[in-house]
Amino acid sequence: MKESKGKKGKAVVVGGSIAGLSCAHALIAAGWQVVVLEKTSSPPTGCATGAGLGLDPLAQKLINSWLKEPQILDCATLPLTIDQNQVTDGNKKINRMLTRDENFNFRAAYWSVLHSLLYKALPPEIVRWGHTFLSYSVSDDKTRVSVKSKSLQTGDIIDDVGDLLIAADGCLSSIRRSFLPDHKLRYSGYCAWRGVFNFSDDENSETILGLKKAFPDLGKCLYFDLGLGTHTVFYELMNKRINWIWYVNQPEPQLKGNSVTMKVSPDMIEEMHAAAERVWVPELVKVIRETKEPFLNVIYDSEPLDRIVWDNVVLIGDAAHPTTPHGLRSTNMSILDGAVLGKCLEKWGVENLPSALEEYEFTRVPVVSEQVLFSRRLGRIKQGLALPNRVDQPFDPIIASQEECEELQQKNMPFLLDIPSIILGEII
Ligand SMILES: Cc1cc2nc3c(=O)[nH]c(=O)nc-3n(C[C@H](O)[C@H](O)[C@H](O)COP(=O)(O)OP(=O)(O)OC[C@H]3O[C@@H](n4cnc5c(N)ncnc54)[C@H](O)[C@@H]3O)c2cc1C
Repeated sequence: MKESKGKKGKAVVVGGSIAGLSCAHALIAAGWQVVVLEKTSSPPTGCATGAGLGLDPLAQKLINSWLKEPQILDCATLPLTIDQNQVTDGNKKINRMLTRDENFNFRAAYWSVLHSLLYKALPPEIVRWGHTFLSYSVSDDKTRVSVKSKSLQTGDIIDDVGDLLIAADGCLSSIRRSFLPDHKLRYSGYCAWRGVFNFSDDENSETILGLKKAFPDLGKCLYFDLGLGTHTVFYELMNKRINWIWYVNQPEPQLKGNSVTMKVSPDMIEEMHAAAERVWVPELVKVIRETKEPFLNVIYDSEPLDRIVWDNVVLIGDAAHPTTPHGLRSTNMSILDGAVLGKCLEKWGVENLPSALEEYEFTRVPVVSEQVLFSRRLGRIKQGLALPNRVDQPFDPIIASQEECEELQQKNMPFLLDIPSIILGEII
């Protein structure tokens, strides 16, 4: 932790998921005092929470700098060194490779494992579980922010006063809504069936041996299989698991409550299994069929925001940039948001908070805006949906030219290898 030269700043962070915890690490390293308010009643435990995600090289370095045990992240994740796109011929049930990038330097993590590593590396008093954010107010001179939350256990209303309120409350952020009441999420046109197939109790089952024969680079490869107007993504996670996601075009479902995950009935699962038979190779269908408790995410993003700072309130993570998952960006952007914010606060000090927040916004907005739009485009290409420059001729992986297929690759993500100058010293 840095010895702060002047006054020590205090930040109230709303949301204790990946963005909130990353930000807590970065701010503590910058010499700030931090409290994180999270409405979930206790830290998520075990692999029942969430599924898989891919960490880019910069996010890996930042996490390592916070965890302070260099090997711990590598031990908890698997490499993703290959990004491969292939087309599945639904009639013949065979795959053909479209692109293969062997210089992909991501790692595959279980959401709950990443969350737990970040959480356990924080001082214990930082996160207040079971505290729902209610409201905030900014002092007339704009130097203090007062935050009200409710303890779910006692019902008490608690007031925290700080220099900065950080909204890490996810893509449905209520804090963002207070500034942008008309800002809407954009339904992508498709939902994603997701699941984690656990083969730890039988590593030699016909199902897993068949899958590994059909997809021999599992364990180091991010596989994308494209059908006509649909695609699936799958990769291996630590502890003998396969993470899979299957995107299906459909009208926007009605969401109940404050979540983008839908409840699914046995009938819906049965229909999904039958549809998988028609589209994917049998080795993949078997894994989908044998996955316990698949779930359905409704996929949204939103038009990029041109500001993410209002006085001493700042947005980070999905609150700042709801995005579709095709570029593997939301977690990576969130981690970098936290790191950049921490460095800006350290550089300018609490006395110059407006300058710190201006630099944060100036550094992040152009990058996240392009990444959100690129992810959107990637999703629309892979789902065979209309694109601005090819309205009548959506992408068809069966007949696409090599040049068209090149667009499918993750390495084309804008700013993917950029390291913001403000954090260069941190990770070299
Ligand atoms: C339980 C869970 C599992 C996930 N699993 C995966 C996964 O497997 N793969 C993947 O790619 N992404 C997953 N995500 C999403 C992923 O974490 C984000 O897309 C990305 O990392 C950005 O994170 P975020 O912290 O900005 O937003 P989120 O992860 O959405 O977190 C927002 C947090 O804010 C809290 N919150 C919201 N409103 C309030 C309030 N009023 N008061 C207090 N707290 C509030 C929420 O409870 C939540 O913890 C998961 C998210 C959660 C919450």
